[in-house]
Amino acid sequence: MTLITAGIDIGSTTSKAALWIEDRLGPCSIGPSTTNPRTTARECYEKALQEAGIKADEVACVFGTGYGRAKVSFADDNISELSAHGKGAKTLLPSARTIIDIGGQDTKVIIMDANGEVLDFGMNDKCAAGTGRFLDFIARTLGVSVKELAKLHFSAKYQPASLSSMCSVFIESEVINLVNEEVPLASIVQGMHQSVAIRVAALAKRMGLVEDVVITGGVAKNAGVVDELERKLGVKVKTFPDGVDPQMVGAIGAAVIAKQKHLKRSGKQA
Ligand code: ADP
Repeated sequence: MTLITAGIDIGSTTSKAALWIEDRLGPCSIGPSTTNPRTTARECYEKALQEAGIKADEVACVFGTGYGRAKVSFADDNISELSAHGKGAKTLLPSARTIIDIGGQDTKVIIMDANGEVLDFGMNDKCAAGTGRFLDFIARTLGVSVKELAKLHFSAKYQPASLSSMCSVFIESEVINLVNEEVPLASIVQGMHQSVAIRVAALAKRMGLVEDVVITGGVAKNAGVVDELERKLGVKVKTFPDGVDPQMVGAIGAAVIAKQKHLKRSGKQA
């Protein structure tokens, strides 16, 4: 019988479901997080099941993760985002040693040993300035979508506008001033990405960065932020093979842990 497990990642901004079928990634789904995480989790899971043509009773074990993990009422258990992102990244890219997860609400850096054991981790301070939410907020101010930020970043010569404020609220005022001074949008976007990268790189360096470095979370899809991070870290960031969506890594990790727990519980080797 085919062993199928699932991971449900209820994040601050998006909710994700991933199916793990034997030793490979199955269909995934993603949607916005809502004020009703229980329903959102179920809908997200059902979407992935439907795409796979699988019924819920064919799934051996489901693990929840993310900030709303306790609300995944149909899950067998749940795990922390750190464990989920660590496991997901290591499974997809075994050479990964440093995982930088930049999500909607926070940024985490996880340092792992060669066997995938978490050695250390750190999080951004309470300020939103190094997170996806900050990028969403500034993109709205600029009248563009976050999906357009990378294109804008690379659309002109590298001349990042200087954003000196430390707080996201003040940075927004600086951005409005730059727009009024007719500073090119590409420079403002480069400056904003630089501002995010400075914060994230400082955290990663404090943690003792080890290569290979990978980025997970929705912001990993912004090639402009990745470009700035590579400049600030002084290392190349690895991408996941087979075009795996970096935003799905937490859900994938939860599905892999669900498989290992299931095998252990049923007396088989994980
Ligand atoms: P969480 O798990 O906390 O909900 P995610 O890992 O889903 O967060 O990341 C959400 C963030 O990812 C959004 O705030 C947005 O800034 C960013 N994001 C999502 N999709 C894209 C995209 N296609 N291009 C650039 N940024 C994106």
